[in-house]
Order: sequence, then structure tokens, then C-alpha cells
Amino acid sequence: MSDKYDVIVLGAGPAGYVAAIRCAQLGLKTACVEQWVNKQGNPALGGTCLNVGCIPSKALLESSHVYAEAAHGLEQHGIELSGVKADIAKMIANKDKIVQELTGGIEHLFKANKVTWIKGTGTLLPERLVTVNNGDGQPVNYTADNVILATGSKSIEIGAVPLQGDVVVDSTGALDWESVPAKLCVIGAGVIGLELGSVWRRLGAEVVVLEAQDVFLPMVDQQIAKDSLRQFTRQGLDIKLGARVTSSQVDASGVTLQYTDQSGEQQLQVDRVIVAVGRRPNIDQLTTPETDLLIDERGLVHVNGACETNLPGVWAIGDLVRGPMLAHKGSEEGVVVAERIAGKHSHLNYEAIPSVIYTHPEISWVGQTEEQLKEAGREYKSGVFPFAASGRAKAQRDTGGMVKVLADKHTDKLLGMHIVGGHSSELIGHGVTVMEFEGTSEDIARTVFAHPTLSEAIHEAALAADQRALHIPNRKR
Ligand code: FAD
Ligand code: NAD
Repeated sequence: MSDKYDVIVLGAGPAGYVAAIRCAQLGLKTACVEQWVNKQGNPALGGTCLNVGCIPSKALLESSHVYAEAAHGLEQHGIELSGVKADIAKMIANKDKIVQELTGGIEHLFKANKVTWIKGTGTLLPERLVTVNNGDGQPVNYTADNVILATGSKSIEIGAVPLQGDVVVDSTGALDWESVPAKLCVIGAGVIGLELGSVWRRLGAEVVVLEAQDVFLPMVDQQIAKDSLRQFTRQGLDIKLGARVTSSQVDASGVTLQYTDQSGEQQLQVDRVIVAVGRRPNIDQLTTPETDLLIDERGLVHVNGACETNLPGVWAIGDLVRGPMLAHKGSEEGVVVAERIAGKHSHLNYEAIPSVIYTHPEISWVGQTEEQLKEAGREYKSGVFPFAASGRAKAQRDTGGMVKVLADKHTDKLLGMHIVGGHSSELIGHGVTVMEFEGTSEDIARTVFAHPTLSEAIHEAALAADQRALHIPNRKR
């Protein structure tokens, strides 16, 4: 006889653990299967996000930013410091402590909500049977009325640059170095490449980023992307576009990389390498061929708009399915699925999911870019306000970047907000809320923002979309 649940969730990342908690809140008998073992050798909840993703990377971004400010950012405020040193081992220990506190917190939440944590690797079999193997004796079988698949994603590896010890690493390895490489190559100028490249650059590494595509951050509004590229270059990130790595060799002196760019074959000698070329859905032990779960050619579990798979009572959420690979997208899908299982009519507005790259300056956006609107033939108006004209940004001596507002030319409905600038991860929430309420640029223009704040730049960008900005000259109509 196998144990029976109302809901079994496979995977306890931000998609799975949130789904499990919400199911339990709604009175469903819920279990969550999770296989993660942390670097201390203990089983852990929280998935990629809490263990080796969002949280540890943000901890190191924060520590390295504070160090860089103390080392060379305070003089203009009239503060002189000498002998500033970074203790990398302590930084890593601080990051590990934050991770342990948060993953332990999920364990408490599971207990408080009466979610059963089944430790081990779960595999979906026909008829919503889940078999769990914890490497310790016979697999145990469970059944459920509903199964939610949330097994997340894994780093993509490339044959030209195989991972090797702590010299050629993926993002997980780059969160655990206890010394700063003199010269570092990051392969891929995507989100991870820029965030982790920034961490090690701030701590003193010479950083070269090799990016295969010719366009920098193609998913970002290109006015914002170009501005951020200028700022990253000034910080010393050497970002080479159109550079495709073809092979590599590791020896005692470091790593030699061969790559091609517009001028032909190139060679680069570095001490260490981070491979950050994207992530793929984790379907490794998810199911068996007899189960007939539909998986597409990219390895994503096929779902409809409500996260239902082709199998009755089987749902899939998070990085395992279409859409951006973002923690908050997965969590919200978890809530929606839990509520649908409980008979409610929840849905997720995929048009209003914010994205953030946590570099300095931060790049944050929601909705459509100017390039996407042009391609769709949509008539729009835009308003831009530079932080150089913001009193608060000046007081902070952090004036790089801008806010850009895009609205429908005829209805004025907000179609996109794009920000490059300090603290823009917090500012973008204004754009998300207005888009969620289907508001207009005039709604923002008529809202009162506190003075002096960075958010006034959003107000001014909305005014600029109507040629009536107050603190910059308006473009001629
Ligand atoms: P995951 O978090 O990957 O969790 C899946 C879980 O399933 C894992 O714990 C895994 O062990 C478990 N699992 C897999 N297979 C099985 C199985 N067969 N049985 C049992 N358990 C299984 N996103 C953001 O939104 N903001 C950020 O700042 C951010 N920073 C990131 C930084 C880095 C370095 C990385 C790598 C990613 C970052 N992301 C960020 C992306 C974010 O981590 C993912 O989008 C998010 O974790 C996806 O959540 P998930 O629950 O779908 O999957
Ligand atoms: P990505 O897709 O953002 O970037 C990968 C980059 O590598 C691309 O620009 C691609 O053109 C380039 N590339 C691919 N193959 C290459 C090659 N052979 N040589 C040189 N360049 C190559 O992927 P990522 O940075 O690995 O991040 C993975 C996912 O994790 C992202 O989808 C992102 O959503 C998520 N993530 C989010 C955050 C955040 O929200 N702040 C942070 C980290 C990761």
C-alpha cells in the first residue's frame, strides 16, 4: 500500500515550496519531495534560488559592493579610509550563513503548515504514482490526486570549455571561491555572467566577458542596454561581443581559451573561467517513457496557460516550463496551481512579470521594449528621465542611468517601464503595479511621489512621455 496525498510536489525550489505551502493553507494533504544536499552535507529545501542562486549571489553582490564603495567610492562624500581589505573567506562564510538561515526558514514553514518533506529523488510514473529513491534501501511509492512538477533547471555545459575543479566553474562554483583570480574570463554576458563578473571585478579581478551574440542584452530595451554597457565598461568589465569560444586547455598556469570574433581566431590566457551560457530544464529523473509526459524539444515540460500538462491531475511550474527562468515567476505559478487544485479561479498575468539584473547600476524592466513595440507595429510614445537630473541621485553621488516609460500612443496605457540605475530593483515595482491595474502614463504623472526620492524619476519620465517634464527640457513635438 502506498501513502496517499491530495497533492505531491516534486522539487522544493521557489516554485515547489510555495506551491506546497499554498496547497497546505487551502486544507490539502500535501507532501513535497526534495533531493537537495547542501555543501555541509545536509538535506536542504529552497532549490537553486536559496542554495546556489538568487540569495547567495545577492549576498556576494552586496558584500563586494560595500567593499568597492569603501575602497574607492567614499572620497567624494568627504570620507577617507585607508587599509580597506576584503576577507574573501569571511564573505563566503557570511553568504553561507544567510543561505542556511533562509533554507532553515523554509523547513520551519513546512512544519508550521504541516507539509510533509519526503527526502530523496522523486520520479513520476503513470496514474500519478510517485516513486522516491533516497539512496538508502528500496524506493518508496506514493500516490496523489494531483502532482505538481517543479524540478527546476541546471547550468548548461559546453564541450569547448568543460568544467574543471575550481578553475573552470559554473555559477555554483563561482559562489565559493575563497581567493580572487588575478584574471578571470566569464563566458556569456547574460544575467549570471554580468552579476558574477561584477562580484569578482569589484573584489579586484581583471575580468574579460566573452559573449557569442553581437547584441548586448538583446532581451533588454536597447537604449537601456547601451547605457549599461558604457557603465560596465567604465567599471573595467571588458565585454567582447561576437566572441564565440571554440576550445580550451587547462594547465598549471591557468586556462588558455581559443575564440573567434570578427577579426578571426583569438587566444586568451586567464587564471579562472566561469561558464554562464544559460540553464536547461531539469528533467533528468523526472519521469519514465511509459508515463507519456509531453516534453518539448528544448526539454521543457509542455503546459497550457494554466500550467496543466498533458496528463490529468499533473501540473508543472517554474524553470521546468515556458516563460522566464525567474524565482518570482515560479512562485506565482505555484500559488495559481495550488488555488486551481482547490477549485479557485486564479490566474497569472505573464505580461507584468518584472526582471532585474542586480549589477551596479541595476537593470530592471517590465512589459515590452521599444524594439518589441516597433516590431509589432504598435504606435507608442516614450518618456525618458536621466538620474543625472535627480536631486536624490546627486545626493547619493549615483547619477548613472535613466527611467524610460513606454505608453500606447492613443490610449496612453502603460506598455513598458525600463530602468538602469541604483536601486532600480525596488523602483520597478511602481511599473509592475500600474501595469497590473492596466494604468496609463498619466496615472503615474498624476501620482504624488515623495521628494527627494529616486522614484521621482519615474514621475518625470511619465511626464516626459507627454512632453511636460518639469526638470529636463522637453523634446520638440
Ligand atoms: P529550482 O530552484 O531549480 O528548484 C528545483 C528543485 O527541485 C531543486 O531543489 C532540486 O534539487 C529539486 N529536484 C530536481 N529534480 C528532482 C527530483 N526528481 N526529485 C526531487 N527533487 C528534485 N531568479 C530570480 O528571480 N532572481 C535572481 O536574483 C536570480 N538569481 C540567480 C542567480 C543564480 C546564480 C542562478 C543560478 C539563478 C538565479 N535565478 C534568479 C534563477 C532562479 O534561481 C530560478 O528561476 C528559480 O530557482 C527556479 O525555481 P524552481 O523552483 O523552478 O527550480
Ligand atoms: P542567459 O541566457 O541570461 O545568458 C547566457 C548568455 O551566454 C547569452 O547571452 C548567450 O548568448 C551566451 N552564450 C551562449 N553560448 C555561448 C558561447 N558558447 N560562448 C559565449 N557566449 C555564449 O543565461 P544565464 O546568465 O546563464 O542565466 C540563466 C538563467 O538564470 C536566466 O534565464 C535568468 O533568467 C536566470 N537568472 C536570473 C537572475 C536574475 O533574475 N537576476 C540572475 C541569474 C540567473
